Amino acid sequence: MSLTLHSTTIRAGAFGPAVDLRCRECGATRDLGPHFACDQCFGPLEIGYDFGTVTRESIEAGPANIWRYKALLPVPDDIETSPNLEPGFTRLLEAKNLAAELGLTKLWVKDDSTNPTNSFKDRVVAIALSAAREFGSTVFACPSTGNLANAVAAAGARAGIRTVVLIPSNLEAPKQINSAVYTENLIAVDGNYDDVNKLATEIAGETDDWAFVNVNVRPFYAEGSKTLGYEIAEQLGWRLPDQVVIPVASGSQLTKVYKAFRELVALGLVEDKPCRIFGAQAEGCSPVSTAHRAGIDAIRPVKPDTIAKSLAIGNPADGVYVLDIVRETGGAVEDVTDEEIREAIVLLARNEGIFTETAGGTTVGVLKKLVETGQLDPDLETVVINTGHGLKTVDAVAGVVGPRATIAPSYDAFVAAGLS
Ligand SMILES: *Cc1c(COP(=O)(O)O)cnc(C)c1O
Ligand SMILES: [Zn+2]
Repeated sequence: MSLTLHSTTIRAGAFGPAVDLRCRECGATRDLGPHFACDQCFGPLEIGYDFGTVTRESIEAGPANIWRYKALLPVPDDIETSPNLEPGFTRLLEAKNLAAELGLTKLWVKDDSTNPTNSFKDRVVAIALSAAREFGSTVFACPSTGNLANAVAAAGARAGIRTVVLIPSNLEAPKQINSAVYTENLIAVDGNYDDVNKLATEIAGETDDWAFVNVNVRPFYAEGSKTLGYEIAEQLGWRLPDQVVIPVASGSQLTKVYKAFRELVALGLVEDKPCRIFGAQAEGCSPVSTAHRAGIDAIRPVKPDTIAKSLAIGNPADGVYVLDIVRETGGAVEDVTDEEIREAIVLLARNEGIFTETAGGTTVGVLKKLVETGQLDPDLETVVINTGHGLKTVDAVAGVVGPRATIAPSYDAFVAAGLS
């Protein structure tokens, strides 16, 4: 079986267990390709699968990165042999100090800040890169709130494919440099993420052989987030947690972690049980939590204004599906202020030695708020996902933490500082 695309031929088995693209709204299917919208109803397309036999043992025998789950992903069987950054299988750390501080019985931090470019985006980009290769794309590109640009630029460099990354021009300097160091084609756009995304969609429509990871290859990209769910379950000893708190930008990650849990149950790899899914947003960009609180189905787009720039998507593509999932599982979507985000970054750092970026501050801040407001059960096992590293957003806490004192180099001065 092979199908022609532009001048490229897609190899048989190029997408492993993936069989087609399926519309999330009307269920219409179409052949695998760089498409993101249903040609019947314009609904978003998702990968459809026909999984073979997958066992805990076959997964455990795989490498310590996301390719251990390749039998569940739209990638070829020999994916490890193509140059990539080998993301994933990050630490799941029990957070005893933070649990005690918040009054929780059992709490884990899934620490995705240790991925190759220090955010969870390396997972989704690795799948998009594989798809771009199979489609014969000549340019690997994205619109980004920052972390995606870093991940695309780095993965493209390693794979030897030309990259073009578009970001809002007001991004934090560390995130700009973390892209520019890997690519000469970082484009800063005077506008917010939603403007950048619109521009990228327009460019994607004009170019035949550019793979925009989160636009025309979005169905492939999005599947990368499933690996977070697989890893959490495997690292808990092939069990689902009772509660998970996940940051929400476009909402893709949350929907895919949930999808991963359901797949593991369907494949008999974990036992089914209730698992409440919670979403975290910043108050300055909270279209999904606002809709959740109001009990409505429609998401009203907002103009973002928050220090959590990596979550600053005012018109989230998967927002309505996030609402469905949190309602179905008995979870919620909450938001916290920029002040609470800063406090939560310091709270996690001082209690667990983990420095998270503003997105993680949002997630930990929301975890705290969910406990305080009784929305999350403190006696159930909880996982909170840290999706990015604090060194990318140092300015967020630069005014909050710093030297306790600046002293002369003498013992007397040290004593006078009140520490001895
Ligand atoms: C992109 C991103 C997210 C979530 O993104 P979704 O669009 O909701 O999948 C979360 N945290 C960080 C740090 C990110 O960069
Ligand atoms: Zn459709």
